[in-house]
Amino acid sequence: MSSTYRIFCLSHDPAVEAVPLSDGWNSSAAAEQAAINGVPGHEECDVLILRYSGALVEIGCPNRRQDPHGRRHPHATQWVDAIWLKLLSLAQRAPEGSPQRVLAERAPMPGCWWPERLRRLRVELDVT
Ligand SMILES: [Zn+2]
Ligand SMILES: [Zn+2]
Repeated sequence: MSSTYRIFCLSHDPAVEAVPLSDGWNSSAAAEQAAINGVPGHEECDVLILRYSGALVEIGCPNRRQDPHGRRHPHATQWVDAIWLKLLSLAQRAPEGSPQRVLAERAPMPGCWWPERLRRLRVELDVT
């Protein structure tokens, strides 16, 4: 099944699709380039790329010198399975001190998937 790539803006809460009337991009390279170049109206925003193949399958953090939070993303697009991010989000929201929460806080991931970012994606991750 072919994939569609959509860019979401996380400077809104909850996140909104940055180009809501588009059909998305049909290649990861095109979507990554669009995210790096800056989506019109969201140039200064925090954006992620969501890959759909039927359902949401992966989320990519595009290369950016610096996001609006001052965090650096010097990596090539970091793609992570949506199901893993959903589990991480649930664990981040577990009660403080619970095993899930402790594990989530220890997750050896670059700083791309902090709790507030995933919280804003709660509709797309279906973690409401
Ligand atoms: Zn925006
Ligand atoms: Zn990143």
